[in-house]
Amino acid sequence: MKTDLDTYWKLRLERCVQALKNNHFGAWLAENRDDARSIVMESILPHIPVQSVSWGDSITFHATGVLNAIRQNPRIRVLETFAQDLTFDEKIERRRQALLVDLFFTGSNAVTEAGQLVNLDMIGNRVGGIAFGPRHVVILAGRNKLVDDVDAAMQRIRSYAAPVNAIRHANFKTPCMKTGRCMDCSSPDRICNTWTITEKSFPRERIHVVLINEDLGL
Ligand code: SF4
Repeated sequence: MKTDLDTYWKLRLERCVQALKNNHFGAWLAENRDDARSIVMESILPHIPVQSVSWGDSITFHATGVLNAIRQNPRIRVLETFAQDLTFDEKIERRRQALLVDLFFTGSNAVTEAGQLVNLDMIGNRVGGIAFGPRHVVILAGRNKLVDDVDAAMQRIRSYAAPVNAIRHANFKTPCMKTGRCMDCSSPDRICNTWTITEKSFPRERIHVVLINEDLGL
């Protein structure tokens, strides 16, 4: 059942979809994670030639079930870059190869009202794939990622998304895991290494953004 909150977010998200389209992104509004999966599988995939797929770390992407749906298609090769049985070096090599797939999925740390994507990455495979390499990119982002502007995006990422993301990796050792605040650390495990602001999609609609009217991801 739709709530007043859903209606509020729908209004804001609709404006953001238009802003994203003005910035040459393919842009879609999904009611929830299941609707997002339907949009990807039925409205985006049939219009782009896809033989290989990979992804950058994204809780939202996994929550939509898109990966499982794609795995049902025997004509699509899924390049696994997070398999537990891979060594660190093997994961890095696969993530390098993932930059050449036909279709790359990930999330976004923030999406501005003006239709920009703001991200902060540890290794760089996620922001690398957004910027260049994969022929097509699909970004899945919950409504909680919508912010006023780039300053608000960076504030959101520094003060919330990055510390929580560090806490998610129990084997890391960063000061924010103890304090819950960014300490602008020099830890070898620092997850905050490369910022990107994606102002526009080039070529037009190389990047599709599916905004989801549900709180998802960090
Ligand atoms: S810079 Fe360091 S302390 Fe700050 S959020 Fe990133 S990992 Fe945590």
